[in-house]
Amino acid sequence: MPQAGRGADNVNTALASLVKQGLLGSGHYPRRLRRDRFPGVAVLCYHGISVDQSAGERMSFGDLHTRVEDLAAHCRFVRETCHPISLDEWRRVRAGEGRLPARPVLFTFDEGYRPVFTHALPVLRQFSIPAVIFVWSDPVEKRRLAWYDAVARRLGEPEVERLKGIPYGEWRRQCEKSAEPADDGDPCAPLSISELRALAGTTGIEIGGHTASHPVLAQADLEMQRAEIVRNKSRLEAWTGRPVRAFAYPNGKPGMDYTSQTVELVEEHGFDFGFTTRYGFATRDEPPLELSRFLVLRGVSAAELGHRLSYSWRR
Ligand SMILES: [Zn+2]
Repeated sequence: MPQAGRGADNVNTALASLVKQGLLGSGHYPRRLRRDRFPGVAVLCYHGISVDQSAGERMSFGDLHTRVEDLAAHCRFVRETCHPISLDEWRRVRAGEGRLPARPVLFTFDEGYRPVFTHALPVLRQFSIPAVIFVWSDPVEKRRLAWYDAVARRLGEPEVERLKGIPYGEWRRQCEKSAEPADDGDPCAPLSISELRALAGTTGIEIGGHTASHPVLAQADLEMQRAEIVRNKSRLEAWTGRPVRAFAYPNGKPGMDYTSQTVELVEEHGFDFGFTTRYGFATRDEPPLELSRFLVLRGVSAAELGHRLSYSWRR
């Protein structure tokens, strides 16, 4: 029975996907969107970028690595139907200058994977799409894989989930055992310092904080949380020569992955925008340091993105 159920689900998914392609092809989504006004900013949350067709199946956490051609299709669609904004434009609106456009979309990329520089940046520039890139600093500084990629390769993804649930000190000790140097050609390689500097110097691109080593902050005491946030901010600012004012909480689920104390720390250290992984439009009713986003996983086509922006990402 479970097999039959899954088969039916697959057929339904394939049919739905064909219908959505048809609606995109006929211009339905653009027509609908152009009459629409979003309830807030649609903040899209991407992670890595891959160029290898089958990489998603072979990589750990492959769902988090969007195909570069899908990203290009998303950028084209958003440029033609919505209003891509930068965080600076949003800041100005918050400061009382003008108002947001009808369908604001902000592209964000968490982690700091190197293909965001080598493959996403040319696409963003081609379509003049601003973006915020939230970067962990330890992998950049140590030329290592992020802990979860190293652990997943060595011990499997379930071990990563287990480690997210243990206290910070023990988590650090366990992660050190799996530390792995990063090869530049690895799709999970971190940005180099010079690539980070080049990204930060690109018009429309802003670098944000994402902690030094990507712990579950709720598992750390206050001083350890502070050390993670401060080390990350000071490194990024020293490398790029620019202020780091936006922050994305690792894992990002409110009340689970970070606490109200974390939000106070983020505010205390001068951040003005904070992003979670809570699902939804970022509205004016939300605290500015706990804004919602829409996670975009591998396999989301332009038609699927169009459908979500037009219909399913409603409240
Ligand atoms: Zn992250």
